Parts: sequence; C-alpha cells; structure tokens
Amino acid sequence: MNASSTPYAALDERIGAINDVLNAASVLVWDSRTMMPAGGAASRGQQIATLTRVALDMLLHADTARALDTAEAAAQQTAPEDPRRAMVAQVREALELHRRVPAALTQQRAALRTEAQAAWIEARARSDFALFAPHLKSTMALSREHADCVGWSGHPYDAMVAAYEPGETAESLRRLFAELRAGILPILAQARARPPARRDFLFRDFPEDGQRAFGRWLAAQLGYDFQRGRLDSTVHPFEVSFTREDVRITTRYNRNFLPASLFGTAHETGHALYEQGVSSAYTRTVFATDLIGLYAVGGTSFGMHESQSRLWENHIVRSRDFWRLHFARLQAQFPAQLADVDAEGFYRAVTHTEPGLIRVEADELTYDLHVMLRVELECALMDGSLGVADLPGVWNETIRRDLGVTVPDDARGVLQDIHWSTGYVGSFPSYTIGNVTAAQLMDSLRRRDAGLDEVIARGDYAALAGQLRDAVWQHGRRFTRDEMLVRSTGRTLEAGPYIAYLRDKYAAAPH
Ligand code: ZN
Repeated sequence: MNASSTPYAALDERIGAINDVLNAASVLVWDSRTMMPAGGAASRGQQIATLTRVALDMLLHADTARALDTAEAAAQQTAPEDPRRAMVAQVREALELHRRVPAALTQQRAALRTEAQAAWIEARARSDFALFAPHLKSTMALSREHADCVGWSGHPYDAMVAAYEPGETAESLRRLFAELRAGILPILAQARARPPARRDFLFRDFPEDGQRAFGRWLAAQLGYDFQRGRLDSTVHPFEVSFTREDVRITTRYNRNFLPASLFGTAHETGHALYEQGVSSAYTRTVFATDLIGLYAVGGTSFGMHESQSRLWENHIVRSRDFWRLHFARLQAQFPAQLADVDAEGFYRAVTHTEPGLIRVEADELTYDLHVMLRVELECALMDGSLGVADLPGVWNETIRRDLGVTVPDDARGVLQDIHWSTGYVGSFPSYTIGNVTAAQLMDSLRRRDAGLDEVIARGDYAALAGQLRDAVWQHGRRFTRDEMLVRSTGRTLEAGPYIAYLRDKYAAAPH
C-alpha cells in the first residue's frame, strides 16, 4: 500500500509539520542560550512564542481533528500492541486537554511569565522576596485556574505534575518522598560523621581549554555521537534536540571549580544519549513530540529523561571504578593542578557530602531533600494552605530542620530557583524521580547481566548503552515512564534500589 493512501497519512503529515515547527522553535532557544547577543532577547522571545502558538493552532485545527478521526477508526482494527494505538491515543489526549484550556488563559500565563521573570531577577539581585511575592501569588492563582480547566480529582497539583510526570499525583509523591526521607536521613547522618574528604585541589586554576578537551573526550567515551551533535559553552548547561540526527549539549567551564564542567558534561551527555538513541522510525511522529507541553523531544517524561542524565553522571562517572581507570588521563591534562592527589583521593573529593543552601550545588545525598521541600511548598501554595507571605519563613524553617543550615537571605533561600517565575509549577518532582528511576534501571540491568559491572569497570560503556537503548531510548515517547519501567524491571517506580545505592556509596566507610 502506498504510504500516502493509508488512513494514517493525513495525521502523520500534520503531526510531522507540528514537529517541524517545534524543532525550529528549539533551534531559536539553543541560539538564544549559546550565541545570541543580549540585545536579541525581547524579539527572540516573541519569535519562540509565535512558533509555539502556530504549533498549537495546527494541533487544534479542524483538519487535525478530521485526520485523527480517520486514524482512530483504523487503529481500532489493529492488534493491542500496535504502536498506532498509542499514537492516536496520545494525539487525542493532547487535543482534548488543549481544548479544555481557554486561549485567553494561556495568553495570560505567557504574559505573566515575562513579567514574573523580570521581577524575580530583580528580587534575587536585591535579595528581597517582597518584590517577587505579588507575581508568585498571580502565578499560583493562574496555575490553579489552569489545573481546574485541565481537571483533577485528588489535588489541583495533580493536573500540573501530569504535564511532566504523567501518572504522579500529590498523594503518590507524598508517599514516595516519605519513604525516601526515611531512607536518606540516616545515610546522611553516617556520611557526616566521617572526617571530611580533602577537596582543596578541586578549586585550583583549570584553564578552559583543558576542561574542554577532557569534556569532549568524556562525552565521546560515553558514546555521544559528535556526527549528530556538538558541545558548546553556556551559563546554564542544557541538552536540546532537533530530531535524533542533531542533538546538542552545552556545558559551563568554571575555571576555579573543576567538577562543574566534568559532571555537567556527563549529565548533559546522558540526556543526549537518550535523544540520539530514539528509533529513527519515530522521527517527526508523536513519539518524538510532546504535544501537551508543545516541545519536540524524544524522551517520555522529564523524570525518565533525568534518569538517563543521572545514570551516566552519578552511577558511571561519579564512581570509584571510573576514576581508578581514567584519573591518569585527567591528571595528564592538568599535571600541576592534580600533582598531589591520586584516583582514590579524587573520587572521595567528588563524593564529599555537605548540607548546603543551594539546590544546584547539592551533592547526591542532600539533593532530594531540596526537591522535596519545593514540592511540599508548591502543593501548599496551590491549594491555599500556605500563603505566599508565609513562604520564606516556612522555607527557612524546613531547611534548618532537614539540613541543619541557616538561610542568611532570600537570594540563597526562597528566590534561588527560576522555576516558579517561569510558571513551571509541578516540574520539581522530576529531578528526584530521575534519581530513583536511574537506580531502579541500573539495579535491574545488573540482575539480568551479572558481568555488567566488570565490563563497565574496564571502561567499555557500549554494553550498558546497548541495554539502555533496548530498554528505554529506542522507544521515544511510545510508552509512559511506568510502562517502560514495568517492561524492563518488572516493577513500577520504587524507592528501594535508590536508597540501597545511596547506602552502598555513602554510608559505608571508604574502602
Ligand atoms: Zn538534567
């Protein structure tokens, strides 16, 4: 049968065109964060907003609805496992969701985002929460309105988190976080009881050229394909893809803190391996398009995406085996700076644990406590049980309770993250879900292949990449995160393997 005459052809073409538009918007985003002069910011913001609106208009167009009806009728005749069923179901879900949200509300939220972000930048610079408070109040009110349009049953937060982690709710997260907290706090106490590792050498002078050379070697070593990607520098590192054939990463070179670019590059490489590994059959399809968030991406949820970055960053590169094998190469790159440290000393320095104020600087053991705090607070702000005016007080109190540190000012407290100013309410859980998912995947891969650790310890990462490609990458957005976890580990998301991983790595005395 000729492709153009199948009952899916019209829908495929519409989704393909929407994917093209969203990829073009992503190119503009990449440029704005790497190459664009500061003066371009205002008009670039308009250009990206216009392309996103064009994509939404194309989705809501009567031709899409007609094409979807035809495709749905045909998909009903296929076998239950046929990917066509998931394809039409995903388009239907996105279409219905966007129809429930009035265009005026979406515009109001976009306008507020611009205002709120400007207010947040100023508030943070002056460390004055009061400047941001009214914008946060409006953000939460509009988020609540959006949630009511989308629909929810347990908690309004459920509608927000669903955009990032379909299936998660305020209640499911409360249970997950309680289990994690109970598992992590005793490990943290044990890690803190040990004498601190020596770290002075991490803060020496590391010229950018050397960091870049090592970073490029590192990305290639983990399997990143430079024929279908490039590595640039930026202020806030990110990964972005314009189909699987062009997947770009960025990193930040801090001349006086080597780990920033080392682990940042490993992290973004993990995201990129996922995107480069999506099946080529899914290019320009709904399995490479987030039609709800209106974003061209191959990964299935934010948490699943984050699991791939965390897996390579923490399970592979932040491991004793990795530095036992590769520290000599890093030392050769920086012979004077790293003359008085060995592989074991370097490993201990980069797994040093110390509760701090800033989420993005947090180590593996304390990171999730920062995330839990934010999720707890954004839930309470959305349901009205916490007023915006009381937010800094509760924030500071919780940080003291969980981490034992005192917040000196709002800039290093409640104002540190950009998320709330951009309206990304509900995105924080994905960071922790990424950590949990990474450990669950690694645990099941090891059970299935007893020799995997030995192969990884030899510096051969292709076997791991192959298994992750089979279990996760190739499927793009065809399956949900939990569907994929069940297929590959036999279980939905569970905290146990992550807690066990942290205990092995941080509670045990150094050996
Ligand atoms: Zn990430």
